[in-house]
Amino acid sequence: MKAAKGIAAAIALTILSGIAASAQDFDVVILNGRVMDPETGFDQIANVGINNGFITRITADAIEGKRAIDATGHVVAPGFIDGHSHAQDPFGHRLYLRDGVTTAMDLELGAYPISDYYEFWEGKAQINYGASVGHPWARMSVLDGIDPKGRGFYNTSLADSLADGAKWQTKTFDPLDMPNVSAAVETGLKEGGLGVGFPIGYYTAVGSPEVMEIAGIAKEYGAFITSHARYLAQVPPSGFLGMQEMINVAHLQDVPLLLHHIPSNCLGLTTACLDLIDEARANGVRVVGEFYPYTFASTYANADYLRPGYQQQLGITGKDLVVIETGEQLDDEKFDKLREEAPGTYLLMYSMKEKDMRAALERPGVVFGSDGMPFFNEDGTSPGIDAPYGTGRGHPRGAGAHARFLRIVREDAPVTMMQALSKLSYELADFLDDSVPQFKLRGRLQEGMIADITIFDPEAVTDNSSWETGQNTMPSTGIPYVLVNGVVIVDKSEVQANLFPGVPIRRQITNE
Ligand SMILES: [Zn+2]
Repeated sequence: MKAAKGIAAAIALTILSGIAASAQDFDVVILNGRVMDPETGFDQIANVGINNGFITRITADAIEGKRAIDATGHVVAPGFIDGHSHAQDPFGHRLYLRDGVTTAMDLELGAYPISDYYEFWEGKAQINYGASVGHPWARMSVLDGIDPKGRGFYNTSLADSLADGAKWQTKTFDPLDMPNVSAAVETGLKEGGLGVGFPIGYYTAVGSPEVMEIAGIAKEYGAFITSHARYLAQVPPSGFLGMQEMINVAHLQDVPLLLHHIPSNCLGLTTACLDLIDEARANGVRVVGEFYPYTFASTYANADYLRPGYQQQLGITGKDLVVIETGEQLDDEKFDKLREEAPGTYLLMYSMKEKDMRAALERPGVVFGSDGMPFFNEDGTSPGIDAPYGTGRGHPRGAGAHARFLRIVREDAPVTMMQALSKLSYELADFLDDSVPQFKLRGRLQEGMIADITIFDPEAVTDNSSWETGQNTMPSTGIPYVLVNGVVIVDKSEVQANLFPGVPIRRQITNE
């Protein structure tokens, strides 16, 4: 007994003092990188030791491990946490890894049923994954009788519902619907859904009383809410008004709120919206805004905000719309026809001004979210995990958003590198960690944290994806190593096949 205790004490002492006892103290060591931690401000050339998936040592001393990564000239950062990822498929994950992402969650549209979503990924995820309970999907299930089967983007549920009246989108608040819709959302929360997503910009018919009531359910479960707010417009009723509605809900229900892509909703009123969020926060509302670093959005032809009169509302014309599948630029007439005949057609929409996007990028407290959409082949299937880069069509942000932000930071220095990393990882983890305790150990480059780590060359990191045909899914470069839960999943810029270190990010399951 005594001897065993002595050995344990010796091991503990070795760990504590960092005395190198053998050549293989660590599973992985990352050597000579610029180690940056946004929470503490730590920013030094150091060595990082990893054991059993955890960061166990950060030191200027020499350390050795079974595997050594030379990070000279590179930044060693907390893996990027993306709370706005609709690209919930293996090819999408592969592109995210090349872009430095270690956790990709769909908190905006969310998923439904939640158990189906998590079941899909079990044992086959290369990055950490999670989803909120999607209010519109829950409505679809109840009001349209269509099962979104977890990942609704990857089956015919959306098209089926649009072809059949889409009550989830068009039906106004009816107290008689509420028990069933509430029960559906509650089931999702019991199944561990991360929060409740209210992308009400896509179903503006939904009544405010319904949103208020469902947000109250989120509060009961200690969860948070998110929103793609109402009124994508810069004239009344504007995106600003939509933000006010959700901030009011968050305030009165006392529930944390993530407001997605501020520039995309507020357009010319972006600075006013950012001020509104700051003011709400100063008054005790737990609210954060989000941005993505592009001036064109991704949408579909029948979106609420593209109904007749959209030109004045958004300050655009039909010529600012491009069909993703063909690359065809539309005009007012062509678009009206398309909306009538093919309402589900995916579009790029050049709706934002550079100065508004930059205002959100620079504003302290505004977090990064790629809003990456699924990529689709011409036949409507999504590219498989092994598909060549360049395959598939979709908004390039699904492949390059994070590296694009880092490139902007290098070229123009709108924020410091530390501020950028904070927006890419720590701030969202910090916002979520009360509701989702797993985030207490992520988004930080510190001893004791989980080893989700992104290693990039600050002088070379760049996006390579663009809107041009064949370029939508070109992977980012300058990010040679990514570790997920301590596993080197991107190695010399190659995603390692047949390794699936991703784990579910999920709230406690309470329905079993
Ligand atoms: Zn959105």
